Amino acid sequence: METERHSPRYSAIEAWSPGDILEAMIEGQFAAVAAVRAARPALEEAALAIEPRLRDGGRLAYAGAGTSGRLAVQDGAELMPTFSWPQERLLLLIAGGRDALVQSVEGAEDESEEAIRLVRCCAIDPRDVLIAVAASGTTPFTLACLREAKQRGALTIAIANNRDTPLLAEADHAIWLDTGPEPIAGSTRMKAGTAQRIALNLLSSLVMIGLGRVYRGLMVDLKAVNKKLVRLEQNGGPVTLFFADGTTATADAVVGADGVHSVVRDIMIGPDRPIHRGRIAYRAVFASNLLPQEISRSRVKWWGEDRHIVIYYTTKDRSQLYFVTSVPEPADWMTKESWSAKGDVQELRKAYAGFHQEVRMVLDACPDCHKWAILERDPLPTWSQGRVVLIGDACHPMTPYMAQGAATSIEDAAVLARCLKDVSFDGIEAAFRRFEAHRKPRTSKIQEISSANTWMSGGNDDPSWLYGYDAWNISLDEPAPTPGSSKSAEA
Ligand SMILES: Cc1cc2nc3c(=O)[nH]c(=O)nc-3n(C[C@H](O)[C@H](O)[C@H](O)COP(=O)(O)OP(=O)(O)OC[C@H]3O[C@@H](n4cnc5c(N)ncnc54)[C@H](O)[C@@H]3O)c2cc1C
Repeated sequence: METERHSPRYSAIEAWSPGDILEAMIEGQFAAVAAVRAARPALEEAALAIEPRLRDGGRLAYAGAGTSGRLAVQDGAELMPTFSWPQERLLLLIAGGRDALVQSVEGAEDESEEAIRLVRCCAIDPRDVLIAVAASGTTPFTLACLREAKQRGALTIAIANNRDTPLLAEADHAIWLDTGPEPIAGSTRMKAGTAQRIALNLLSSLVMIGLGRVYRGLMVDLKAVNKKLVRLEQNGGPVTLFFADGTTATADAVVGADGVHSVVRDIMIGPDRPIHRGRIAYRAVFASNLLPQEISRSRVKWWGEDRHIVIYYTTKDRSQLYFVTSVPEPADWMTKESWSAKGDVQELRKAYAGFHQEVRMVLDACPDCHKWAILERDPLPTWSQGRVVLIGDACHPMTPYMAQGAATSIEDAAVLARCLKDVSFDGIEAAFRRFEAHRKPRTSKIQEISSANTWMSGGNDDPSWLYGYDAWNISLDEPAPTPGSSKSAEA
């Protein structure tokens, strides 16, 4: 095998001067780059084949053992922060599991049975793509992943450094990186590893560009066509909006639906940070076949003395699981960007170590999680000022314990639309006041119950006032239902 061959040129390398050793190794690295360049047509073909599967919703799987496995996993993991590649569409199959990322796991590369089990467990199917990486081109674990994925109809790509090996022969697309013998015989983390790293990097970047996750040279999966509001001005007539890009716009009225860190709210009422009461939420969505068994019910809320966790399937076929927690956070941990901040799964598992074994099973299976500061505000004194009004989280952000943040935002939008229907320019301010009079008692109550985190905990709550509310048809001449109100009893 070329990569294992002892090159006579380096047979006395340890006797060379440090400068000469480095020079030889640098030369090897250039050879690795040259090997990738020679494989350019194969990389291009592979990328073109991968794109349509991923565009149709397929998942991208990486498989490997040892150095090749670690490089493969690293390439995959970087796709999430770099290109916003969704976590649930990424499968990282490394011989020996997570431990193999930081240490050598004895015998793992020979575990063909485990490889087959993993591919089956991930339910790899014809929509998916598997990239298998092995310097030798014969590693049993990697080869078994490739064979099983191919048998299940997935598109298979092989990257190897030895020609005419089973991995390259059996893959749909073979990328041979001809790096030859290593300066230290058999140390494929050197030339072979560098070439694999470059090849993976190029392949996945080209695919992501093809999928439209780069725009004008920027790493984005959304085209930047939005405007960021920085200022508002109103003098009795139309409102002028000023944007960060220097442009302006005028409108008869402005609805501030700009979330918990609302700029419209700051302009109206003055800057004020939302309240963080020292609790955070971990949350994750992942493929439920990572669990050793199904959860007992389709959705369960587990209560502890000072923390809880809600677990439920997000899909009818139970293929995907979601959980969200609420736990005290001793440090004053807060992040402005709530959707992308990462959590530490080890910390999360520790926080629920004493919980029921079903909770521990879910957390043990969870590959990754996000961490979110739970923020709220007290009810605002007023929801509108002239022709500017607030709705949703900009107006009444709440803790998530009643799962009503989005629900109340949507209700707001429906009711506001009804209040504004057929209203003339002069009637806008009165419409905003009517909207507030109807909505505020209800959202304030929901904020209060959510903050106390008592909803449904005793099992005696009558939820009809909450879930029986019909924003499209309810009378707007009286306040929206709250617990014990007449509407609640009727619902
Ligand atoms: C992890 C998590 C779980 C949740 N679970 C639930 C649940 O189960 N049920 C539920 O009902 N709710 C839930 N919520 C709450 C829900 O997501 C929010 O209440 C809801 O998204 C609020 O909607 P919104 O339109 O008011 O604000 P947002 O969804 O925050 O939208 C505000 C928009 O304004 C834009 N914006 C902000 N500033 C500016 C600016 N200066 N210029 C231009 N645009 C700007 C933002 O980019 C954003 O698009 C959850 C929230 C989180 C974080």
